[in-house]
Amino acid sequence: MTPFLAKLIWALGAVGWFAIRYRHQRRSRKTPKVRRADRLREAMLLSISIGGMLVLPLTYVLTGQPRFADYTFMPALAWLGAAVFALALWLFHRTHQDLGRNWSVTLELREQHKLITTGIYSRLRHPMYTAFWLWALAQALLLPNWIAGPAGLVGFGTLFFFRIGREERMMTEMFGDEYRRYVERTDRIIPGVF
Ligand code: SAH
Repeated sequence: MTPFLAKLIWALGAVGWFAIRYRHQRRSRKTPKVRRADRLREAMLLSISIGGMLVLPLTYVLTGQPRFADYTFMPALAWLGAAVFALALWLFHRTHQDLGRNWSVTLELREQHKLITTGIYSRLRHPMYTAFWLWALAQALLLPNWIAGPAGLVGFGTLFFFRIGREERMMTEMFGDEYRRYVERTDRIIPGVF
């Protein structure tokens, strides 16, 4: 493993991520909504997340900046990062398969929204967010830079902590006891832990 290969793996992972999402993104445009998101708030959170998970690492991969924050590359960490990224992509694919038309990039509900409690959603309520955390972790392991590496954890972490409570409240308002019972038997993002 070399620094160049680690950067390439990060870039391929990001491309793979968008390849998985593309089909779902197109379909979601055609599925009518019954409840829209708080646009400004969501736009701000999404921008922070995209900044940390895409803009900063991509700048680093393409230009090597910010160079002053570089640290010594450790091949073992990068290998681990590659494995974590592969796991993230697999999980991301599974969550999109399971959520189907019910998925939205922001906090929205669709016409004929169904509460999904099967497949990967039978254990976790937010496995797609688990996949994003794994991507952010992989980024930190792959890029030997104190800014570009952890930026994903900070960026996605901000979105996650400002969103998770609201999302669960929205789901409870929509699905009532069905969602409350679902909350009781599942964890948020890590099986058996959180
Ligand atoms: N938090 C989930 C989904 C992320 S996508 C995860 O991490 O896997 C966000 C949208 O998915 C929300 O706006 C909501 O409309 C929808 N959603 C979240 N959980 C759902 C579930 N269990 N069943 C159906 N739709 C869900």
